[in-house]
Amino acid sequence: MASQSSYLKNSYEEYSPSKVPSILNEGRNGLSSSFQETLQAFTKNKLVFMNTEMENDIFYDTTVYTGSAGFGLFYFMCAITDENDELLKQSLSYINIKKQLKGKRISFLCGDAGPLALATVISYKLGNRVTKKPYRLPEYTVIAERLLALISLLSESPDEVLYGKAGYLYALLFVKKYIPDDTVIPPDHIKKVVRAIIKSGRHYSTQVGSESPLLWQWHDKVYLGAAHGVAGILYMLLQAHDYVDPLDMSDYVEPTLQWLLRQRLGSGNYPSSLGSPRDRLVQWCHGAPGFVPLCVLAHQYFKNDKYLKIAKECGEVVWRRGLCAKGFSLCHGVAGNAYTFIQLYQATKDPVHLYRAGCFMEWCVSARPGSQARAPDRRASLFEGLPGRLYLAEELNHVDTAKFPAFEL
Ligand SMILES: [Zn+2]
Repeated sequence: MASQSSYLKNSYEEYSPSKVPSILNEGRNGLSSSFQETLQAFTKNKLVFMNTEMENDIFYDTTVYTGSAGFGLFYFMCAITDENDELLKQSLSYINIKKQLKGKRISFLCGDAGPLALATVISYKLGNRVTKKPYRLPEYTVIAERLLALISLLSESPDEVLYGKAGYLYALLFVKKYIPDDTVIPPDHIKKVVRAIIKSGRHYSTQVGSESPLLWQWHDKVYLGAAHGVAGILYMLLQAHDYVDPLDMSDYVEPTLQWLLRQRLGSGNYPSSLGSPRDRLVQWCHGAPGFVPLCVLAHQYFKNDKYLKIAKECGEVVWRRGLCAKGFSLCHGVAGNAYTFIQLYQATKDPVHLYRAGCFMEWCVSARPGSQARAPDRRASLFEGLPGRLYLAEELNHVDTAKFPAFEL
């Protein structure tokens, strides 16, 4: 059966240095005021819609990926940007840590670690700034203990970002970013998680006789991309570089990165999994977009220009093929792909990337007929639904510090 194209043709004009595009400001280092106004109107409208028509959908579950904590993360990002305690309280109202949550999963996105990490930081920030915390919000140290206790699930968890150890590592680093105190998240705790990921990668690589010194499988496949695969795991290890043994970095992590980057397809895209010749998906969870933050960070950390070159080449793939037919989501849609250009803009300060991010945002706002093949499974989910577009629109107001949620620190 002939498969439909997975993306729509990109008809946006190419960026030209000789003319300021209407979505950028004169300095080409931010959005134009007219495009900002468009985004503000979009956000205002959609927030009203979410809080009236979609309220029940928001509370589908407690997680960041599909549930209310995703909305919590949206308000958290707004609160941190504005140093706004009211927004922190609003974020908290979407985070449910009263019960044992799902109790089975360890990761930030789909497990208990996301709501617990968010609640820890909110409790810390409110405790330091306001005299009266919201009713029954425990001390941050108490919530952090629950986050640390999730390590009991480590050995039975997979390694990847969405459900596994790398997703737990993100949660720990997230708290560490806002609460550097070593008694809250002890460095040894983070190192334990890092070592477990590396051990598991060495074990599986040896078992299957791989050329790559580290290899991980998820559901019997070696995925390569950000959500379930090697790119996402390596990206978390690089973000955790302070806790990675330097010998592990040089003997395992960097050679694995080099092996991974050699798996590139002729088109410049990356396959979803090892041994799959298919070249179909260009979205954060599978394919080139997830390799950009990895290569940008690898360039900064290993000081090798080859990595930045690959990041830029991935950006070209996303520009050509990143207007996903599936729709606008962060995980497998156009909003997530817009972050590719934000990451490249932050790394290079070249306005072409900011322009491209703006074009993808415009696509998400205008939502032309036919630009979403089917409605998302969970329309109020941060990663699959409307909040992802709101998150991106908000972040474009402070593009120098924008971060792909639950992935970049
Ligand atoms: Zn996805």
